[in-house]
Amino acid sequence: MKIDLDTDALIMVDVQNDFCPGGALAVREGDQVVKLLNHAQKLFRHIFATRDWHPEDHSSFMGRGGPWPPHCIQNTYGAKFHPDLEISRAWVISKATERDKDAYSGFQETDLEARLKREGIKRVFVGGLATDYCVRDTALDALAAGFEVVLLDDAVRGVDVKPGDSKKAVDDVKSKGAILEKASSLE
Ligand SMILES: [Zn+2]
Repeated sequence: MKIDLDTDALIMVDVQNDFCPGGALAVREGDQVVKLLNHAQKLFRHIFATRDWHPEDHSSFMGRGGPWPPHCIQNTYGAKFHPDLEISRAWVISKATERDKDAYSGFQETDLEARLKREGIKRVFVGGLATDYCVRDTALDALAAGFEVVLLDDAVRGVDVKPGDSKKAVDDVKSKGAILEKASSLE
């Protein structure tokens, strides 16, 4: 698939240490997306990197009745992008930054949509972590906002709290109109 430098954007979702092996909320093989996303970045002019950016008493944490162990706490190692992820050309979008609000989607209470539209983006390519939460919701919100969506299905990994969650997430996104493509086959 050929990339249009003017109207295509790459969105790298939450490629953070806490979501990679060894992290607080590790996704199996989460670090495997890094090389593919670095490859993809070489082909894009418009690049965005979302990150979970929580206060230390965030409502999604188990200690406050949420579903997750503490993760991606602002200004900690776990919240940093994976050390091998190329980030110098990416615009960083922080989400779920307030203690009482969670956000899986990079579009939720951020300026991502406005920024993409201002730059004339028509199609977004989405990869990262995790398939069945933040990647899914980001892709669905992109579709709802009127963008064409290409899900880079080799450059995503899922949590799979229930086996099959990731596959279901990919199917959901596809049924809403996204195209599946391999990051390794972009040119
Ligand atoms: Zn989170």
